[in-house]
Amino acid sequence: MSSKTLDIFLNENIADLKERGLYNEIDPVEGPNGPKITINGKTLINLSSNNYLGLATDERLKQVAKAAIDSHGVGAGAVRTINGTLDLHLKLEEKIAQFKGTQAAISFQSGFNCNMAAISAVMDKNDAILSDALNHASIIDGCRLSKAKIIRFEHSDMNDLRKKAKEAVESGLYKKIMVITDGVFSMDGDIAKLPEIVDIAEEFDLLTYVDDAHGSGVLGKGAGTVKHFGLQDKVDFQMGTLSKAIGVIGGYVAGKQNLIDWLKVRSRPFLFSTAVSPADAAASTKAIEILMESTELNEKLWENGNYLKAGLKELGFNIGNSETPITPCIVGEEKAAQEFSKRLIDAGVYAKSIVFPTVPRGTGRVRNMPSAAHTKEMLDEALAIYEKVGKAMNLI
Ligand SMILES: *Cc1c(COP(=O)(O)O)cnc(C)c1O
Repeated sequence: MSSKTLDIFLNENIADLKERGLYNEIDPVEGPNGPKITINGKTLINLSSNNYLGLATDERLKQVAKAAIDSHGVGAGAVRTINGTLDLHLKLEEKIAQFKGTQAAISFQSGFNCNMAAISAVMDKNDAILSDALNHASIIDGCRLSKAKIIRFEHSDMNDLRKKAKEAVESGLYKKIMVITDGVFSMDGDIAKLPEIVDIAEEFDLLTYVDDAHGSGVLGKGAGTVKHFGLQDKVDFQMGTLSKAIGVIGGYVAGKQNLIDWLKVRSRPFLFSTAVSPADAAASTKAIEILMESTELNEKLWENGNYLKAGLKELGFNIGNSETPITPCIVGEEKAAQEFSKRLIDAGVYAKSIVFPTVPRGTGRVRNMPSAAHTKEMLDEALAIYEKVGKAMNLI
């Protein structure tokens, strides 16, 4: 017999979320996640994936992935520390280190578990972590797992960060203090103030950790936010994901050799969870090679991002503080944001609504992620649909 208590808990809470417009319905994609996608048999312009450079469906990556399956099989066979470390994983890690301009790198199965792994391998209950208020959920969970004291500072507010860093140091309560931030904030598209963060870190002897999930492949001609500001020698942890601009799956930390050596013996997902498959490792390596050889895709991404952003702004949408191709259309009320997204989808644009708890209450939005793979025609078509739906809903 199933638990009555569980049934009551689930049914009440699901009904409550639906009532408040916070219940997310999942739309399965039939086929590849490219610039156009098919959902329920209907083809839509896709402005919701993190596939910034279009690499998720790139022929060159598909070829090396197939070749890696032929040469190495479909699974790594074990965790990295037993015998799941294949030559392909080492090649990937060398490539990441070159790409990021660091001594070494370690790869994980996802960006999410990389944050869980790396933060808790270094920080513990005797430490404190200064964390930007808009940091990603995986950073928040990684910080919690470490048992360090979490001290939130106001989003990108450098006065607040300095004040809280000073208080933490002067309290004498903590052995180590870390400052941790997204490089690019995924819901608004704004960039962390890394030069000031690094200055504050130097002043108060803080460890520095940048999660560049949305900056890598996008800023710094592709190499990321840290490179964009020329701070490769000043940031201890350059964390990133292989699932967004790189187009595959996995996460990594790039940094000094001693840090990577430590993470290889102390980060739990590296020790206790099987490594990514040969196809994934080979495809990620190839993607990074492509980015290191040419800035073509990166330039196309910015061209498309700027075009869409200018178009949405001209139509009169509130696009917030975006400094990158990520472009929100902020609507406010959760239900209105969901209705807006639904009508866009009906009209031919897949742009998903993002509401609390992913963003603060009352800042519901539809978020647009143009990519290098979109054509001008697709973006024009999307803008025409935005205009039609926006006017019908009195948003513009
Ligand atoms: C997406 C994301 C992650 C998680 O990366 P995955 O590889 O998808 O697990 C971590 N941090 C940030 C800021 C992200 O946006």
